[in-house]
This record gives sequence, structure tokens and C-alpha cells, in this order.
Amino acid sequence: MSKRRDFIKNTLLGSAGLLALNHLEAASRKKRKPVVISTWNFGLKANEEAWKVLGSSGSALDAIEKGVRLIESDPSERSVGLGGRPDRDGVVTLDACIMDHKGNIGSVAALEKIENPISVARAVMEKTPHVMIVGAGAQQFALQQGFELKNLLTPESEAEWREWLKTSKYKPVINIENHDTIGMVGLDSLGNLGGACTTSGLAWKMHGRVGDSPIIGAGLYVDNEAGAATATGHGEEVIRVVGSFRVVQNMKHGMSPKKACAEAVKEIKKLFVRRGADWSNTQIGFLAINTRGETGAFALRKGFNYAEHDSTGNVLKDAEFLL
Ligand code: ASP
Repeated sequence: MSKRRDFIKNTLLGSAGLLALNHLEAASRKKRKPVVISTWNFGLKANEEAWKVLGSSGSALDAIEKGVRLIESDPSERSVGLGGRPDRDGVVTLDACIMDHKGNIGSVAALEKIENPISVARAVMEKTPHVMIVGAGAQQFALQQGFELKNLLTPESEAEWREWLKTSKYKPVINIENHDTIGMVGLDSLGNLGGACTTSGLAWKMHGRVGDSPIIGAGLYVDNEAGAATATGHGEEVIRVVGSFRVVQNMKHGMSPKKACAEAVKEIKKLFVRRGADWSNTQIGFLAINTRGETGAFALRKGFNYAEHDSTGNVLKDAEFLL
């Protein structure tokens, strides 16, 4: 019966009616002061870039894509996009995802030779019936969309990789620049949230390894009724607890952004203990924003920082930590 009622309602409403409903919904959302937060020091310049859109009433999604693209295209940033450290075979492979306030998602993983994976992820979201495309297929799709092939392995990253080859010891080191993702989440003046996450992943990873960053729910999650969150650090651990989704759910159940992040970090620690696994070299950081524009972060260990930009300026903050 209720299905029939829905059917009649939808038919009567038609597309004009739905459009009017969308406008009504937008009007009923409270106007908000825009704010954007992003992981690590490079978040400062990413935020500046994002603010060019967000500060002039642009959408969170457009602002965030623009902000993280800047870091992807900067060869001096060695953990994202162009200049990112390669895998153990010397190949730079990139992971990225994006999510908007309506629940639209797009993602690419293990993408080679394309400088701006976040924009490919956005194209997956907007132009395909899928949500995630990986490897050769992602590159093929990117080329069809007009992206160009580029050698992403800079001489600096190549030299570092050749040095590593001498010992080939894979040991991720916390907070030292051999990994780090740019995760960015923000709120726009219409009260809509958005987020993006992009990385070259762990340096010297196995070829084909995919971390948390392109996985919706792990590296990023956005729920316009609760908040948005993103993650950085050892992706395997973030995936294990579906980290960003967990943080957003925590906010949905009433926690502040910082507490929501802290509870997710505690869950990761709990699983280390339960598995009897070594976590002496692991770092994890979560970053979150709620629908009121309140922000917070929490890490497993000391050393995680994030940048926050609102109308009063752009500042770097140290996250609190568990250990
Ligand atoms: N989370 C990323 C990955 O596991 C790396 C990082 O943020 O440092 O690929």
C-alpha cells in the first residue's frame, strides 16, 4: 500500500515538484559560516586554495577539489600526486576519492601517470554509473575524459627509491615524510559538507596495494545530517575499522568531532591488542567537521597536525593523541 502511495506521490510530483522540494530543502538548511580543514602542514596551502572558492560562497565540493589538486600538482610534496614516492617497483600509483553532500561518490585506485586523480574521481562520480574504477581501467577512463599522461616519478623520488632498493627493507616510519595523505573536509555557506582524499599511499608499498584513501567509509565519509571525516596514516588499520564512516556515525550519535575521532582511534588500538599485532610503528590521524562547522582531530601518536581555515584565517593545529 505504502509503495503504491509513494508511486502516486512521485508521479504527481514529477521533476518540477522534486526541484521545488530540493530548493525548499536548501532554503530550510541554516546558512553557515564556511570552514575547511585538511591534514598535515601542506593543508595550509591547500586550504588557501580552497578558500578562493569557499570564501566567495562557492560549494564545498568545488573548493575541496581545487584545494587538494594544488598539492597533487606540487612536485615538492612527496606523498601525493606528481612527485609522490613510488611503490617497490618504482611505479607511482595514486589513490583518491571524493564525496558530496548528497551522497554522490567517486573513486580511483592504483592509477598511474595521471597528475590529478581527485578530478578523475570526480569524473567517475559525475559521468559514470559506477563509484570506483582502478588501475588500467581508471587510466583509460581518464584519457577518455581528456586527462593527459605524465611521468609522475620525479628525479628526487626516483633517487630515494633507488637508495631504498639497496636494502629493500619495508618499515613504515611514523610521522616521517614517507607517507601522508591530503584529506580535506569542509562546510560551505549553504550548510553543505563535502570531502576529498588523495595520496600516493605508503612509499615502497607492494605494486597494486590500495590503502584506505580511495575507499569511501575508510579514508573519507560525508553525511550532510551529521558531519564529514577523513583519515591519514596506515591505511590497513583505517580500513579495518571503516574509520571515517565510524567517526561520522559517532558524530551522528552526538559526539563532538574530536571525541568522534578519538573513539575511532581507540577502536584501532583495541584491534591491535586483540590481534596481538605490533603497532610500535603505526600512526593514524582522523579529522572531522560537523554540520555546525565545529571541527576536531585525534591521532594515535604525537605528531599529527592539521590546518583549519575559516573567515578569521588559516591556522595549523596539533591534534591530541592517545599514546
Ligand atoms: N593512508 C595512506 C595509505 O595508507 C597513507 C597516509 O596517509 O600516510 O595509503
